[in-house]
Amino acid sequence: MIKLSLPHLAGKEQEYVSNAIASTWIVPLGPYVDEFEKRLDFYLGAGNAVALSAGTAAIHLGLVMAGVKPGDEVICQSLTFAASCNPIVYLGATPVFIDSEKDTWNMDPAVLEEAITDRLRLTGKLPAAIVAVHLYGMPAKMEEIMAIASRYGIPVVEDAAEALGSDYKGRKCGTIGDFGVLSFNGNKIITTSGGGALICSTLEEASRVRFLATQARENRPYYYHETIGYNYRLSNVSAAIGCAQIEELPQRVDRRRQIHALYKSGLSDIAGITVHDNPTDEIRSNFWLSTILIDKEHTGKTPDDVRLALLEKGIETRLLWRPMNMQPIYKEAPFYTSTPTTGEDATGGVGEWLFDRGLCLPSGSSLTDNEVATVIDALKEVLNHE
Ligand SMILES: *Cc1c(COP(=O)(O)O)cnc(C)c1O
Repeated sequence: MIKLSLPHLAGKEQEYVSNAIASTWIVPLGPYVDEFEKRLDFYLGAGNAVALSAGTAAIHLGLVMAGVKPGDEVICQSLTFAASCNPIVYLGATPVFIDSEKDTWNMDPAVLEEAITDRLRLTGKLPAAIVAVHLYGMPAKMEEIMAIASRYGIPVVEDAAEALGSDYKGRKCGTIGDFGVLSFNGNKIITTSGGGALICSTLEEASRVRFLATQARENRPYYYHETIGYNYRLSNVSAAIGCAQIEELPQRVDRRRQIHALYKSGLSDIAGITVHDNPTDEIRSNFWLSTILIDKEHTGKTPDDVRLALLEKGIETRLLWRPMNMQPIYKEAPFYTSTPTTGEDATGGVGEWLFDRGLCLPSGSSLTDNEVATVIDALKEVLNHE
């Protein structure tokens, strides 16, 4: 079976985990947690990383730090994984979804601005935060998004859960927004088995996040609480895995980019298939997942037809994230798009258009060139390409 994205061991995981166990630091703090944060800061070249138990926890605390309160509205990209926006609801706030643009598949800056002014007009209040996402590792148009956000004074939580190692205009994704989110879940570019990080702009913010993530316990001899806290710190054992994994991170990013290049050249002559690529050379995806668009007119196949046919050949692929405006739990949430939503040309937006055509290909950094060639050949066969 050729899988979508498997954990890829770096070599030192067992040694570091044994050290953690021998040191009896089997708790959600310890030397490996501190070391992992240091290594993240070094790799990113900016920001102050706080290691947490999950990317979802990082989004939650990013929104807390942004000051999101019950009754607020929070803007979020619609085409994403539900973890980008579920924490908005944990805080008693309401998500407002923004459609994607076709270059990056991420938040359309023009629609963002239109939504902000419309929410202000309708509710008399500005949204409390913006969650921008770098889908499949492809950086969103952060310069435009940050400019709009700062014009209205709205903090940005940058969901870089899929984009560790991606660059945008020479900066690492996760360090551009007011807060950046990383995930180290099992299928991400590096893993701690489960974990995440919130990247803060200042040391003060990072120390506040550490406080909130350890039950907001005040510095007194007894347990004393002035703030609602969370149990969100990363375990020292998980951080030991992370320390080993991050040693190989540059190679992992290179390999995912190589795999994308193999797909690009291998699939270039198939009519009806487009490999999603960086729109400019200042926007550089880590290609966490290589993705394609399948034109049904040309191929006679939907992405799910292709997925099932490949599965029969022992190849795992995945449909795109189903946009949040198409999810039952979010059907009442406001949705903004540049495409017509009523009349004859009505569509569910660019996100739905992409969802109807997109497929994620096996992209794990442990895939061999031969395995990638097998996927390419299988795709050609499924699409009857001679
Ligand atoms: C994986 C992911 C998350 C959540 O991270 P976890 O570590 O799984 O909680 C958030 N946003 C996006 C876009 C993701 O892909």
